[in-house]
Amino acid sequence: MSGPGVIVPPATIGMLGGGQLGRYSIVAARLMGYGTVVLDPDPDAPAGKVADTHLVAPYDDPAALDALAATCAGVTTEFENPPAAALERLARDTLVAPNPAAVAVAQDRIAEKRFLAGIGVATAPWVAAGPDGADGEVGFPAIVKTARLGYDGKGQVPVDDADAVASALAELGVPCVIEQRVPLDLEMSVIVARTADGRHATYPLAENRHVNGILDLSVVPARVPGDLAREASALALQIAGALDYVGVLAVEMFVSEGRLLVNELAPRPHNSGHWTLDGALTSQFEQQVRAVCGLALGPTSLVRGDGIGAAAMVNLLGDLWADGEPAWDRALTAAGSTLHLYGKREARPGRKMGHLTVLAATADDAAERAIALRAATTRR
Ligand code: ADP
Ligand code: MG
Repeated sequence: MSGPGVIVPPATIGMLGGGQLGRYSIVAARLMGYGTVVLDPDPDAPAGKVADTHLVAPYDDPAALDALAATCAGVTTEFENPPAAALERLARDTLVAPNPAAVAVAQDRIAEKRFLAGIGVATAPWVAAGPDGADGEVGFPAIVKTARLGYDGKGQVPVDDADAVASALAELGVPCVIEQRVPLDLEMSVIVARTADGRHATYPLAENRHVNGILDLSVVPARVPGDLAREASALALQIAGALDYVGVLAVEMFVSEGRLLVNELAPRPHNSGHWTLDGALTSQFEQQVRAVCGLALGPTSLVRGDGIGAAAMVNLLGDLWADGEPAWDRALTAAGSTLHLYGKREARPGRKMGHLTVLAATADDAAERAIALRAATTRR
């Protein structure tokens, strides 16, 4: 440590969670000269392979947590579901960023929506519910979502009437929200970084398309009017400030009939920010390290020059491997494209295995080329 709250290399940074988001943050930290430790129970975790040390243990393992706290000047997380007790235990002995209370809000849809309502931020109409019934009603069509542990559309049941709600609640058997399905003009996300002393930066907005509840395509800059983009960035900063947030926070939003509604918060770098690896002056992962360590935040603009004015990212899900390893040469030999694979051994349908980024002159061009390149790699 040098200076209050500033962590400098060669100090060691800890990461709860060993997925691809952690992998890129660990690589960024290593490039900057930090030591790195990952805690993840999976011995094959993508981030474990690139860290100095991989502690293979459950997230609530007291010995592993104490080892992390003892070796790390700061600990952060790459997923929203580390046990609250684990974060609190770490926070007794080392710096934890984002703070455990902010993570607790983001890991529970009921707490998250109450928090957003409390600071005057609009969401889709919703009510809290559970196996014994709901606190009220919303219009149909609606979606029943588990309050905790949902991701990539998992833990969600579309419902069209009260009977369907009752059976979904009984079947899920856990606290839920019932959320009215709102008409979507489009979806977008704001990635914001904030330091403990309140310095902050936002990235250009990503416009996001989901397929089967999973992010499929992000396009930057989002094709929305400038005033709506500014409003979205301001909203994300308001949320980060209200959470006293430290690190990178993603705010997923709906644009519904011209109006911004916040969908959910991700207390970590985000899939819709992967384009920053190749298309922004500072990647969201380096920014996470900078924010957590209290350093100067890096510039967040899209890279320019060589005719570049936009970026598009498409996810590579396990489905793409149905007929064997995709033909990567077809993407890798195309100008302006970058392939990223996460080193996961097993290609299950719906599993995020990697992504492909294309830089181009316009958002339309970038999106079109990214989709075409991905299609070209399939062996069918
Ligand atoms: P996850 O945690 O799985 O990302 P989300 O709540 O973000 O869950 O839902 C996944 C996707 O489902 C959203 O990005 C959006 O495309 C769609 N969706 C979710 N809730 C609504 C809603 N209230 N109205 C319309 N579409 C929705
Ligand atoms: Mg989401």
